[in-house]
Amino acid sequence: MNWSPLTGSARDVALAVLLDGPLPRGELARRLRLSAGSLTRLTKPLVAAGLLVEMPVEHDPLTGRPTRPLDIRPAAHHFLGVKLTADTAYGVVTSMRAEILAHGRRPLPDRDPGTVIAAVAELARTLREGRCPGFTAAGVSLGGQVVDHATVASARYLGWRDVALGPACGAALGCPVVVDNDLVSLTRAEQWFGAGKGYDDFALLTIGEGIGYGLVTHGRARTGPDAAVGLLGHHPLDPLGPLCSEGHQGCAEAMLTIPAIRHRVSLGLGRDVDYDTCLDLAAAGDPVAARTVGDAATALGRLTAAVGNMTMTDRVVLSGDGIRLADVGRASFDAALRQGRNPYASTLDVVVRRTDFTDWARGAAATAIQTYALGSGPSGT
Ligand SMILES: [Zn+2]
Repeated sequence: MNWSPLTGSARDVALAVLLDGPLPRGELARRLRLSAGSLTRLTKPLVAAGLLVEMPVEHDPLTGRPTRPLDIRPAAHHFLGVKLTADTAYGVVTSMRAEILAHGRRPLPDRDPGTVIAAVAELARTLREGRCPGFTAAGVSLGGQVVDHATVASARYLGWRDVALGPACGAALGCPVVVDNDLVSLTRAEQWFGAGKGYDDFALLTIGEGIGYGLVTHGRARTGPDAAVGLLGHHPLDPLGPLCSEGHQGCAEAMLTIPAIRHRVSLGLGRDVDYDTCLDLAAAGDPVAARTVGDAATALGRLTAAVGNMTMTDRVVLSGDGIRLADVGRASFDAALRQGRNPYASTLDVVVRRTDFTDWARGAAATAIQTYALGSGPSGT
């Protein structure tokens, strides 16, 4: 299906049905403040194009009149989402409502773009086998800056500059491919299908190899080049903390990332320990690990409070593969969060989402779904 981007009320109708369908026409009209005539005019081309379908007749709960609710056919389309890290391609197949139907991964033998694209194509083939004839669209996400949803301007972990990933991937996969920053994609997935669903404003913080930050205001995910650089990565949090690679003392990267925490604990213990062991040791009362994890959780509390204070959002979603820190260091986190807020301010609604790379790949699929369903590139919402 190929059409010009949906705008205005048509876009609102398609999005409402995608997110909350099936919806009776009456409710849809009331929700979007449209007359019955306008709604019919707007939905007609969407039904004709196969995006929306009319369900069997039922009775409108409010008026009692017979109505044919509008819905999408989530299973009629399959979307591929791929998240690239420095050494692995993680993939999912989803329905149109981003339900994960299959997932898998494939190691990247090296970081050459040709090798990576071949690995993505192989992953797609394995995921598709016996499941669906092909993908309606695919999304690929990675940590880096992406231009026009096609060209990777820079990607730190892959060492890429100006790689035309979208067209090359599209040729290899045989379907339209949208490339986007991984954090923006994850924010969009949380907004539409996850912990941000139903919220006009929320912030997303992720902890992993780096610090991720996404923001939705007035129902729109903030995009643009700066959204892709990790604006909070070097936010100062502890004047006595360790140094980051940029020479900042106690910034978010120096305090909160998985490598930073591992490095501090390994140094203190005189042996190399992995991240989960750091957290296990802290939970068991090891003094070195407990101090490091306590400091990190305090820093996370300060950062969360700062995000709430500066954006005036009251919902902050914490996620990423290192977010177990918030659970193990809960007491330090809570104390710092309280201390960082004005006592008269509302209590921040903090949601901890334990995620893995499958969720990041689902974010890439959400971007592909948006492009397909709304006919628009993933700017804005
Ligand atoms: Zn720094």
